[in-house]
Amino acid sequence: MRAIVLAAAFVLMSACGNHDGPPEIAVAPAHGVRDPVCGMMVDPKHSPKSDFKGKTYYFCSREDKQRFDKAPAQFLQ
Ligand SMILES: [Zn+2]
Repeated sequence: MRAIVLAAAFVLMSACGNHDGPPEIAVAPAHGVRDPVCGMMVDPKHSPKSDFKGKTYYFCSREDKQRFDKAPAQFLQ
């Protein structure tokens, strides 16, 4: 589902190439952080998180947090 949304956003960005100004949808929140599992920007205030090696990582969903918790190093290259 999220992959579809991301793909749609990408298509929208490409399609807007001839218009003035950046498409609003591509602007990440200023306070956003990157979900290391899927790469999307998430709001740390409302996201599941995990601590690993002294750093805190935030996720778009509990599913991504669980994937990270199983093999953190896999997502931090
Ligand atoms: Zn995610």
